[in-house]
Amino acid sequence: MISCIVLAGGKGTRMGSETKKQYLELLGKPALSWSLLAFQNSMVDEIILVCSDEDREFCKEEIIEKYDINKCRKFVEGGAERYLSVYNGLKEVSGEYVMIHDGARPCITPDTINKAGEMLLSTGTCCVGTFVSDTIAVLGEDGTICNLPDRKTLWSSQTPQCFKTEEIIGSYDKALAAGENKITDDDFVAFKYGNAKIHVLDDGPDNIKLTTKKDILLAEGILKAQMRI
Ligand code: C5P
Repeated sequence: MISCIVLAGGKGTRMGSETKKQYLELLGKPALSWSLLAFQNSMVDEIILVCSDEDREFCKEEIIEKYDINKCRKFVEGGAERYLSVYNGLKEVSGEYVMIHDGARPCITPDTINKAGEMLLSTGTCCVGTFVSDTIAVLGEDGTICNLPDRKTLWSSQTPQCFKTEEIIGSYDKALAAGENKITDDDFVAFKYGNAKIHVLDDGPDNIKLTTKKDILLAEGILKAQMRI
């Protein structure tokens, strides 16, 4: 069984809008509903939604019930940081495997989720992302370029990031016990505190995370091109 934690517990302050970014409308539906519908229409068996208590009724009535997302029956309170929201979600997972997805990435598709699921079942891990298209340079202390890593080895991690449930919980337990304070995402935790090799699935550039206002227009364009409407 594969569970999925969809994260919507953030405040989205960088967007500069009154509505939190995960609830902004994209082509007439809240952004979060696009993410949830993709998992609903995929091989995932169970969806756990992490959101703040104050948004729970809105999520239930205006998203889960309205769009009939019946795989989502568990609601978990978000934490102060993303990794704490993930940790809260992990406690509710019933599946042997778990995918962890940013609710603010509405352009994820059922097809990509299914490919990630197959990789997860066969290798035990899967990170959805893409190779970087820009040249990435490392700057030295004086602010000038001191290293130019080979672009073929540079990977941009997105979500879902997928693991065996027991393993990622074990890695999170270790990270929190160590007082780790640099957690950026779940791969960081799995890489630094777990043993499994993390396999990657290249999903191209479309799985953007809503961060600024222009991302709304971009996401609407991507959703239209995917013809999910
Ligand atoms: O803030 P950022 O864009 O990195 O957030 C990525 C995802 O994690 C978003 O979907 C956001 O709602 C979620 N998040 C969360 N709890 C937090 C912070 C972020 O669930 N405390």
